[in-house]
Amino acid sequence: MTLSARHQEYLRLMDIDVWVSRNPARGHEMSGKGGMQDNQADRQATWQLLREQVSVCTKCQLHQGRIQTVFGTGSEQAEWMLIGEAPGVEEDKQGKPFVGRAGKLLTSMLQAMGLNRDEVFIANILKCRPPNNRDPKPEEVNACETYLKQQVLLVRPKIILALGRIAAQNLLKIDTPIGKMRGNYYEYPELGIPVVVTYHPAYLLRSPREKRKSWQDLQLAMKLYNKIPS
Ligand code: URA
Ligand code: SF4
Repeated sequence: MTLSARHQEYLRLMDIDVWVSRNPARGHEMSGKGGMQDNQADRQATWQLLREQVSVCTKCQLHQGRIQTVFGTGSEQAEWMLIGEAPGVEEDKQGKPFVGRAGKLLTSMLQAMGLNRDEVFIANILKCRPPNNRDPKPEEVNACETYLKQQVLLVRPKIILALGRIAAQNLLKIDTPIGKMRGNYYEYPELGIPVVVTYHPAYLLRSPREKRKSWQDLQLAMKLYNKIPS
């Protein structure tokens, strides 16, 4: 599909905000992913341990109000990793990230990029829901950070898409306003994985006119992704 056809499709999807199955799942490109974690059994054990640690975590006060932790979902071999802020009510109920209204829009955004939810990995800065969806506190982000970092290490995506100001600022350890971060390439600290920033889908639901800008961000991310050797 050409970029302009994708654009049309994107706007259509974003405006009607429904998910229509279009692309069959694409195969995973496994080459070039060698290195320290080559041993598949080790990797599986590490994932399992991490999942268990998160599921019983009490490192910050948010454990008190949760129904369950929201670890993250998707492919452990994903080339794209999407990082949001924290679970909301629906995510806390279902134990999966981005399953509410914002999640539906995120699915459409992915679809417009030719990606399927189960071929990317979706996670949040925090694994437990903050009360009344308030912003994460710095001590909560600090407590939870190691889990996300391990997830990034294990998935080793080619590119990370940071969803919204909270995700972007906490990932990149900067306090630049999101409007200024858009259009730039960043790197995930220490690991050097490219990061592109865009608006949070919940914000796009409140400010639908910004959807066009979010498409520019996704195009930028796709352009960068296409330049990264596999
Ligand atoms: N918003 C987020 O940032 N993450 C979710 O999982 C759901 C909504
Ligand atoms: Fe643990 Fe993170 Fe949940 Fe806090 S938010 S209790 S650090 S899993």
